[in-house]
Amino acid sequence: MRLLEIGELSPLLACPRCRFPLAQSEGLFSCTNPSCPLSKRPFRSIDNRPVLVDFENSILDENRFLGTNGASPVEGRDASLAKWVTKRVLFPPSPVTKANGARFIRLLKKAEVNPTVLVVGGGVVGSSIDELYGDQAIRLISFDIYCSTLTQFVADGHQIPLR
Ligand SMILES: [Zn+2]
Repeated sequence: MRLLEIGELSPLLACPRCRFPLAQSEGLFSCTNPSCPLSKRPFRSIDNRPVLVDFENSILDENRFLGTNGASPVEGRDASLAKWVTKRVLFPPSPVTKANGARFIRLLKKAEVNPTVLVVGGGVVGSSIDELYGDQAIRLISFDIYCSTLTQFVADGHQIPLR
């Protein structure tokens, strides 16, 4: 897996409300637009992942999110490896999905020298995209609505905080 380093990712980040670039200070990101209400305080960070959510205009509930320290709202997302393996054995990925994933990677590498893929909802590795995560030639930007070791920031897919 080759997630973009924070130094590569930072210039691409934007305020989820006004789309202005973000400034980084002491590990926290802030909106650089002085007339934006979200510029009044830095965005929170959980486990070194910026939480780039405009909670006033999001389906995410700020109190619930902070109350769970950014845990997944979907039950079972924190499942153990044993559960994941069992599920994979009982319900293996569809061969069609696997073939489409391989085709996507092939076309991506043909079109771009250093392809970058944005993974929306990347908190877990979805069915048949493990090859994407295993390919060191493909750079990934990954976020979800909760904290995960597979994501670089937390965001709402309705307001993706990228420029
Ligand atoms: Zn803003």
